Amino acid sequence: MSAVNICIIGAGSAVFSLRLVSDICKTKGLHKSKVTLMDIDEGRLEAVHVLASKLAEEMKTDLKFSKTTELEEAVAGSDFVINTALVGGHGFLDRIRTIGEKHGYYRGIDTQEFNMVSDYYTLTNWNQLSFFLKIAETMERLAPEAWMLQAANPVFEGTTLIRRKSKIRMIGFCHGHYDVMEVAETLGVHKDELDWQVAGVNHGIWLNRFRRRGEDLYPLFEKYASKFDASEFRPSNPFNIQMSPATIDMYSFYGLVPIGDTVRNSGWKYHYDQDTLEKWYGSPWGSPDSELGWKWYKEQLGEVTNATLALSKAIEQFPGASLEKLIIEGSKGLSGDFAREAAQLYDRNSMSGEQHIPFIDAIVNGNSARFIVNTLNQGAIKGIDDDVAVEVPAIVDSDGIHIEEIEPALPERVVQWYLKPRILRMEWALEAFNERNPELIIEILLRDPRTKSYEQAKAVVGEIFDSEGEYV
Ligand code: NAD
Repeated sequence: MSAVNICIIGAGSAVFSLRLVSDICKTKGLHKSKVTLMDIDEGRLEAVHVLASKLAEEMKTDLKFSKTTELEEAVAGSDFVINTALVGGHGFLDRIRTIGEKHGYYRGIDTQEFNMVSDYYTLTNWNQLSFFLKIAETMERLAPEAWMLQAANPVFEGTTLIRRKSKIRMIGFCHGHYDVMEVAETLGVHKDELDWQVAGVNHGIWLNRFRRRGEDLYPLFEKYASKFDASEFRPSNPFNIQMSPATIDMYSFYGLVPIGDTVRNSGWKYHYDQDTLEKWYGSPWGSPDSELGWKWYKEQLGEVTNATLALSKAIEQFPGASLEKLIIEGSKGLSGDFAREAAQLYDRNSMSGEQHIPFIDAIVNGNSARFIVNTLNQGAIKGIDDDVAVEVPAIVDSDGIHIEEIEPALPERVVQWYLKPRILRMEWALEAFNERNPELIIEILLRDPRTKSYEQAKAVVGEIFDSEGEYV
């Protein structure tokens, strides 16, 4: 059993932090570890500290928790630094989106072809990218041997940026690939029989291998797609779009099934307006990235944040109370997914699905496992530069990360018509950030179908960068 120092930056993101703490509690090999929670919001930090300590106590571990609002204090002496912070918060993203919409950019200027995820800003969120580099630089000084595990978005731009600029050990994680299981389930294939791979870039991954005992399952998907009736598609919530009409349509163009957030990260064909969104992602929401879908998500997040604060107050007032009972009771009014997650916190037979803690266990204790990682390409996907972060399957053990051979290779249609244009947008966004040059953002907008004149692009960029001062 190894004792390691893990710090969580942006720990006030309660759902995420409690999921991670719950995973550590279920990982025997990490039970003696020290966990430092860091956030600039003292109220949220205190709440998570109270709840995490109680959870670990009720799960009978020897975990030690500390909390701080100082980055350096959190990072010093860490073995693993998990970053989940959103600098400026959702409020910043909303302000930028509102300015964009005022100037005729539906859903804001960061909403771009192949990048439609609503809290994944790449053009204007320079504060977030700067913070990524600040963490890396702090690690170089105070924890040079540590691993940085990146959860905060944008994972694609962030992983590429940090790996190009810093020598620290770093990897990005996302959980979108689990939707492979929904594809299999819909076709009646049991997950234990599956032999699968996904490859691409973060939020742009494709099911290149889909087999059962050597049998290619794509003919089965083709049969399903040929009988698919889009008018019958009814999502249970805004995120329930893996088997939406958009997926079937993207499959018919690209020749592979898009997985997870890739279905959202499509072209304008699927995103022009609310009616278009509902056509491809189902009514009433039309994906999480519509006005209605994102409102739904933020309300859920708000309820969870409020519930977390209330729970921590209850535990502070009645330290002998059972947190497990309070959580199960309190989550009854939440949507299915959030309620399931709450119940899972104490279920010893079920991990959260976040990859961070199993990754630490693999590195530290040699408990080798398969992960979907964001790391530099280094030849994994043919036709893509080595210094671009890709999302690919890898085996991780105490010797590090071993990327699997991508077999079969991604088809030209995916590489040329999806990945390369997406990578070019990442390069543009990073160049604008590295030069701190809003002129380049105007150039990007001139290629945007919503731009009707140079003046329009200049005005929106001017207003965003003037009004947000220190943020961008
Ligand atoms: P949130 O705003 O609810 O939480 C982020 C936390 O970061 C807040 O507690 C905030 O106080 C803190 N923070 C802000 N600035 C900070 C700073 N300078 N130092 C330390 N802490 C700081 O946001 P959220 O909805 O939990 O999302 C967090 C991030 O995670 C976003 O970037 C989001 O896109 C990303 N995300 C990633 C995945 C994934 O699988 N990789 C999944 C969901 C969300």
